[in-house]
Amino acid sequence: MARGYTLRPVAELRPSREPRLVEVLREASRILEEWAVEPLTMAGSVVEEASTLEALRLIGVRLAPISLGNGSPVPLDELDPYWDLTGSPGKVYWSTLDLLTRGWPTPLVRLVSLGGEGRRVWGKLEMFNPFSFSVKDRVGWALVEDYMRRHGRPPGRVYEATSTNTGMALAAMAAVYGFKLRAYIPASIQRASDTLLRVMGAEVVRIPKPLTVDAIGEVKGEAARDGAVNLDQFSNDANLMVHIRYTAREIDYQARTAGLNLQGVIGGIGTSGHMSAISFYMKHRSRGRVRTYCVQPAPGERIPGIRRVETGMKWLPLAEPDRLVDVTLAEAIEGVKMLARGDGILVGLSSGAVVAAYKKLAEEGALGEGDYILVLPDNGLKYVEQLSRFTG
Ligand code: PLP
Repeated sequence: MARGYTLRPVAELRPSREPRLVEVLREASRILEEWAVEPLTMAGSVVEEASTLEALRLIGVRLAPISLGNGSPVPLDELDPYWDLTGSPGKVYWSTLDLLTRGWPTPLVRLVSLGGEGRRVWGKLEMFNPFSFSVKDRVGWALVEDYMRRHGRPPGRVYEATSTNTGMALAAMAAVYGFKLRAYIPASIQRASDTLLRVMGAEVVRIPKPLTVDAIGEVKGEAARDGAVNLDQFSNDANLMVHIRYTAREIDYQARTAGLNLQGVIGGIGTSGHMSAISFYMKHRSRGRVRTYCVQPAPGERIPGIRRVETGMKWLPLAEPDRLVDVTLAEAIEGVKMLARGDGILVGLSSGAVVAAYKKLAEEGALGEGDYILVLPDNGLKYVEQLSRFTG
């Protein structure tokens, strides 16, 4: 019997209108749950079902089914769902941007020192991103790509509130695209950040506030006054979307490739971009089987990169994580040491917090058998000042 559809590259298709994010997420959740999609209808190169097309773009499939008459759902496996997660043969890259995007997926490594009682634990090592050695390369890239898509050119001057990593990622984008960056970093962040950002060509302004998010109003005001662009990682949906399209889909692809019996994902929350995306994607993809745990500093504690949920997070309510876990700075540092001394890998403080949260959940008896993924946002080198206070 002839197929009732033909396949066309998503990149060549245009939606009939620009749908709102909530509409796209609603469609995406349906497609992820069914892992199938009804064929689209087209007039010229314009697709009628705008939110379905944009959901397919968000989920990252290469091909879309176009209806030739009757339309039973097409399995996503026919649409080349992981096409751009194959890396570069021979690990040769034609530019540093190519190194970034074709470096994905970042590695998923089994953490042999954790686990036990029928559980295997895996670390997703975001330190393998090349610019900030952190998960924030994805966001710096996405914020600038999104700006260029909307304006047809790179920004001239960017002012951004950052706790270092987004600043380094944006400094790299500024180098590649030739714009100026001013990074506003909170007083509480390690001194080394000024040097790192300045070496990368950014101007650095220290703000007398404890949290990066507290500086947003001031940074927006100064950007408006100076004719600069504030890309705003805290409210710009490009942050959430890059983590659905890549970080979450990578976890799906890697779990599938390795044949994992994935039960849970644990990660820290700052803007909540990566954990909201992972929670959204994996919950729908697994029809609620995979649980997600978000790690925040305990009341009164400060852990660079993460903050408490009540300080305000745009996307977490869309993602419905199963639990929040509180961790102290001392516990986070114990987590860093545990992984360094158990598996020989030096992670940053928010990663240490994720390790500590895993330990707490395991000791409480909250985790069953199967595979668990810890999202580890960066390496430990930026945090030598804090680490030295605990190790002498
Ligand atoms: N960990 C580190 C080291 C970070 O720099 C950040 C964000 O700045 C996070 C965790 C939190 O990530 P997200 O903003 O996606 O919630």
